Amino acid sequence: MAKAALFLDRDGTVNIEAGYIRELKNLNLIPGAAAVIREFNQHQVPVILATNQAGPARGYYPESWVDQLHERLIGLLKAEDAFLDAIYYCPHLAEGIVPEYSYACNCRKPGPGMLLQAAKEHDLDLSRSYMIGDKATDIDVGKNAGTKTILLTSGYGQDVLDGNYQHRVRPDHIFASLAEAHQKVLKDWFF
Ligand SMILES: [Mg+2]
Ligand SMILES: [Zn+2]
Repeated sequence: MAKAALFLDRDGTVNIEAGYIRELKNLNLIPGAAAVIREFNQHQVPVILATNQAGPARGYYPESWVDQLHERLIGLLKAEDAFLDAIYYCPHLAEGIVPEYSYACNCRKPGPGMLLQAAKEHDLDLSRSYMIGDKATDIDVGKNAGTKTILLTSGYGQDVLDGNYQHRVRPDHIFASLAEAHQKVLKDWFF
């Protein structure tokens, strides 16, 4: 049977929002995030990162740097006995300056490409899955892919709710952090 998954945005959801990260030491976990991921790991729920990373398209750094950042993220999680089942990222941006990455793709959130690919590769039931993030585009991608949605007021989430960033959205739920959201998700799936 297809499984429900936990789709997580990266910046402002798992790690502390720090803009375009050019030094490894600036990628740090939000307190409590690893413990939540570990708990879903223990419940054998696929935990899948889906992140827009337009740095390569903007010419800020090569795509290999995104991989290095993800190696650090994996290491920080591993130190707390947590892991991601998969990482999907979109390096594209239609208005970028590096031609190889600068086109309108289907994978940049809110496009559903990353979630649809994950569903195919990991046999996921999107209708029972959750997409959790701190931007309007995280809620939009969840709706576009047919998942449930949670907006976190960590990162940019409060500005989204206040109408000061991107656009207002109607997520299924709103929580202050991943740590606060996880009971809701667990209850929905297991209790
Ligand atoms: Mg984010
Ligand atoms: Zn893309």
